[in-house]
Amino acid sequence: MPKFIVDENLCSGCGTCEAMCPQCFKVEDDFKSHVLKDSCDECDPDEVVADCPMGAISYE
Ligand code: SF4
Repeated sequence: MPKFIVDENLCSGCGTCEAMCPQCFKVEDDFKSHVLKDSCDECDPDEVVADCPMGAISYE
């Protein structure tokens, strides 16, 4: 299973990742996305990575 990583230096807080997978990502009061869950069965990790406009998400 992949493990998502958000680079907080790149994240703009746009919320795209949270909209795609609220189980895995949440934009907090600091306007950065935080990983709630390493991964889940409901999102496609490659799609989530590709749709981040800042290139801030990766997984290992
Ligand atoms: S999609 Fe990318 S830039 Fe937008 S909140 Fe998520 S990690 Fe941050």
